[in-house]
Amino acid sequence: MAEPIASTQPEGDFEVVVIGAGVAGIYQMKRLKESGVRATLLEANADLGGTWYNNRYPGARFDSESFTYGYSFSREVLDEWHWTEQFSPQPETLKYLNFVVEKFGLREDMQFGCRVESMAFDENADLWTIHLADGRSITTRFVLTAVGVLSIPTYPRFEGMDRFEGPSFHSFDWPHEPLDLTGKRVAVIGTGATAIQLIPEVAKDAAHLTVFQRRPNWAAPLNNATISEGEMAEIRARYDEIFETCARTPGGFEHEPDRRGFYNVTPDERKELWDRLYEEPGFGIWLRNFVEIFVDEAANAEFSNYIADRIRGRVDDPELAEKLIPKDHGFGVQRVPLETGYFETYNRDNVVLVDSEATPIERITAKGLETSDRSFDFDVIVYSTGFDAFTGAFDAMEIRGVGGQTLKEKWADGPVTYLGLMVSGFPNFLMLAGPQTAATNFPRGAELSVNWATPFLEYLINSGYRRFDAESGAEEAWLEHVKEMYEGLLLRSAKSWITGYNSNIDGHEYGNTRYNIYNGGGPRYAARLKEVAEGSYSGVRFG
Ligand code: NAP
Repeated sequence: MAEPIASTQPEGDFEVVVIGAGVAGIYQMKRLKESGVRATLLEANADLGGTWYNNRYPGARFDSESFTYGYSFSREVLDEWHWTEQFSPQPETLKYLNFVVEKFGLREDMQFGCRVESMAFDENADLWTIHLADGRSITTRFVLTAVGVLSIPTYPRFEGMDRFEGPSFHSFDWPHEPLDLTGKRVAVIGTGATAIQLIPEVAKDAAHLTVFQRRPNWAAPLNNATISEGEMAEIRARYDEIFETCARTPGGFEHEPDRRGFYNVTPDERKELWDRLYEEPGFGIWLRNFVEIFVDEAANAEFSNYIADRIRGRVDDPELAEKLIPKDHGFGVQRVPLETGYFETYNRDNVVLVDSEATPIERITAKGLETSDRSFDFDVIVYSTGFDAFTGAFDAMEIRGVGGQTLKEKWADGPVTYLGLMVSGFPNFLMLAGPQTAATNFPRGAELSVNWATPFLEYLINSGYRRFDAESGAEEAWLEHVKEMYEGLLLRSAKSWITGYNSNIDGHEYGNTRYNIYNGGGPRYAARLKEVAEGSYSGVRFG
């Protein structure tokens, strides 16, 4: 139960402003309301949901089991909500978040259509002034960001993109009104986790689909299924056990690694495990595997060959199958997309794969696009080209801390944080599920952040502190630890948003590693947060 707040009379307009009404922001607002803090939530979109408000492309769903993705904080919500699929689609998740918000009466504490343009810390008053795109300004003692990690889409930089006459958009900006693809010639650019979800769905509706693939991505079956009333009752009875397991596993899932040791079992025993995992739902193929897959080139290569053979078994044309098998990285080194009929989609007569590494896209035209060797006509172009991960949403706001330094300047070479929660030189500023927090099943990490931030704020307010800041030494030590957790992992050399690669942003070229995530796993991260809180918030300076 929350500790009551002694004073709720701020000198600014609010004691706390939360930015972002997604999974993390909603829970944070619930906790602040319970504490009686004078707080408001600002959301740029017209309504709540964050990633589930924006990503409306066909096939959008999470790769986490629904019952491990939902909030764990309310027994009533757990008892009342029925997930209809093992991996629920976007409309259901958006409905779920609305259900939670309505249940706790949080809508009245949220302001929509409020895009934060900039914020600056007033060092004399120890207050933040937040400037909104609509011209308003708000002052607050504390700012909590819940802005997501993949919320700023990045478009490619092709010449002529504004010349295309038909609809063209990023998958993140898929139109809210129904888009009928019947009879249409559609281009999808990119083959990341998003495209791998939407390509099979678009192929069913469109007259013709052309997929532009620069690098293939490893992918494995999602093996989704519906959840009956009876199964949901069994899940409800197991919720305590489910969340205990999620808290114990590195990734915040029910999946636990196979600890027998890759080299302690025979190749036949390994294959037996992989055959089973390939048929099982969710990330088991990645997270129930041998840990050597993540750290040992030879083990990874053997498993990657296994998956390559699975792809060969699913694609009719052997040449095409080879094009769909990654050759530049091993399985699981990048975030593994889970798919439903993705590889079989290429057996359809109306689907073509273009190798856009061999024949790059050169320009977009009024009628379609031109590659280095031919031109194509399309009715719709979908850019499924990724995100300015982790730091993009912060860069989109001009955040000025002590001495007028901007966070963008401080993070020019990548994020630098204390515990992924605060940034030295940016007082009274907390990030929920931000950069350098444990890379886990998102809501599990978000709850962890909120469960740390709420008593921290209560402590500050009840102690009469007007200001906190991370000590620079503590921040440096955390960065070193974050870097250390990349060592030995094959993912450290991944050409992926996890290491900060994005060909569409200057400075994010391959090789400029950005230490975006904490690879030490959820339990180790949670233990560190607990230790810091119990040590009277060591590494934090109060004033
Ligand atoms: P992504 O993994 O970054 O993939 C972007 C794709 O676009 C890549 O195939 C990339 O090719 C290609 N691309 C980018 N710029 C290009 C250009 N200029 N020309 C040609 N191709 C270009 O992005 P994403 O698919 O949106 O996925 C991002 C993350 O979102 C996922 O890893 C996942 O964590 C999350 N997500 C989660 C779910 C879920 O929970 N189910 C679903 C979707 C997404 P290269 O590889 O050559 O750069």
